[in-house]
Amino acid sequence: MSTVVAADLGPAVLPGAGAFDAPAPGPVGGVLPSVVDIAVVGGGCSGLGTAVRLADGRSDRSVLVLEGRAGDDARSWCSWDDGSDPVPEARSASWSRWEVRTDRGTSTGTDPAHPYVLVRAADRRAAVERRLAGTSVVLVRGTPVSRVAVDGDAFAVATPHGGVRAGSVLDARGPRCPATTPTGRVLLHQRFVGQWIATDRPVFDPTTVTLMDFAEQDQAGAVRFVYVLPVSATRALVESTTFTADDADAFDHRAAVDRYVRRRWGLSPDEWRVEDEEDGCIPMTDVPPVALTGAEDRRWHPVGDARDATVVGTTRPSSGYGFARSNRHSADVAAHLLAGTAVPALVDRRRTRFLDAVFLRFLRDRPEEAPEAFRRLFALPGPLVVRFLSERSSLADDLRIVLALQKRPFLRALLRTGTDAVRRARDRPVGGRRAEPRPSRRNRS
Ligand SMILES: Cc1cc2nc3c(=O)[nH]c(=O)nc-3n(C[C@H](O)[C@H](O)[C@H](O)COP(=O)(O)OP(=O)(O)OC[C@H]3O[C@@H](n4cnc5c(N)ncnc54)[C@H](O)[C@@H]3O)c2cc1C
Repeated sequence: MSTVVAADLGPAVLPGAGAFDAPAPGPVGGVLPSVVDIAVVGGGCSGLGTAVRLADGRSDRSVLVLEGRAGDDARSWCSWDDGSDPVPEARSASWSRWEVRTDRGTSTGTDPAHPYVLVRAADRRAAVERRLAGTSVVLVRGTPVSRVAVDGDAFAVATPHGGVRAGSVLDARGPRCPATTPTGRVLLHQRFVGQWIATDRPVFDPTTVTLMDFAEQDQAGAVRFVYVLPVSATRALVESTTFTADDADAFDHRAAVDRYVRRRWGLSPDEWRVEDEEDGCIPMTDVPPVALTGAEDRRWHPVGDARDATVVGTTRPSSGYGFARSNRHSADVAAHLLAGTAVPALVDRRRTRFLDAVFLRFLRDRPEEAPEAFRRLFALPGPLVVRFLSERSSLADDLRIVLALQKRPFLRALLRTGTDAVRRARDRPVGGRRAEPRPSRRNRS
């Protein structure tokens, strides 16, 4: 999430994850006021989380959340429960056991104190609407913001249903892939199609989430796996995922789900059906969000008056997980907005940034060795792995993880991280000005 300074939010800025077709005939779920204290652009995970925190602050400041989508969001979010979810009543399932399956064996993990929880976006939105009733925070849907501009000491927010003047504006339009990758940085696209499947006979094990099954792994190419979220013996989300450096993904994810369902559970086509579908592309990148501004990517953060310019990336670079991060950050964002102080960026610890940078290079350069790395990671004790994935790991935890992974490919990735740092240093500002970025469409150089 970022504070917006001045931006044209036309169709080109719509993120893959939050695309909406055409604006609704009018605002859905509320009335568009002409003046508010705070406008939040985007009512997804971060926007709704921040809205609830602002309402909990019981301030009399008026808040308007503008969501482009009129209808429901088919997405689901999962994460290890760290107590940060401001809307826990929206959860629909939880698991305390998970597994990673590879051709060299299966690793299982458990952490009863931090179960893996499922939140469906539609349930969260409904729960947030109940929480906001009677407060000074209003959520309107079907109202995409097309432009935000500095207007005197406030902001003019343009929508198809009229303009709104706001004292502060938050950009909660969600993470999206940068159009180009600066020298010495890595961008992997995490692409996926998930299908909610219902079966005629009980086949799923609702006690265990399959975080990754590398049955679809391409030995010579991209990282590929299937994710299974079983909510009952006859219902599960089955998701085909790839990590690829290419911005186009020709892989047929629906066919992969079909193959997997037949192979793993022996289901014939007439024994199962698809009830719902979600798809998306999550950026996995060590490009700092703040560096995605200006000429490098106007979509992430607009150019303009630098006043209050704060940019926050919500997804973890090495995993694409963003739900718990954005929940944690929303508490901070709301507290600063209510206090009228500058919203701080979400910045990972230096050690986490470094480990993520090495891991990203490993995934990009050695995709064929990824299944074994994940098998080894998830063979470690569950609470340790969950601390690492939830950005709560100690130095000793991190060392234990590093020592468990394959030595040679990670050493190569470490060296690559170092040479990339040198390449970036060569590109650094000359005479006080930042050198022009040298973008490349493909980032394996
Ligand atoms: C399909 C999918 C599944 C995911 N699953 C997980 C998961 O299981 N666990 C996890 O940790 N992370 C998951 N992620 C990563 C995910 O991006 C983050 O967890 C989280 O959604 C980020 O929150 P956000 O509020 O920043 O963005 P979003 O939740 O994407 O919210 C952005 C919102 O802004 C709206 N919007 C965009 N442009 C405009 C505009 N101009 N005007 C008004 N509204 C606008 C969009 O419609 C959208 O609702 C998933 C991502 C996708 C795409």
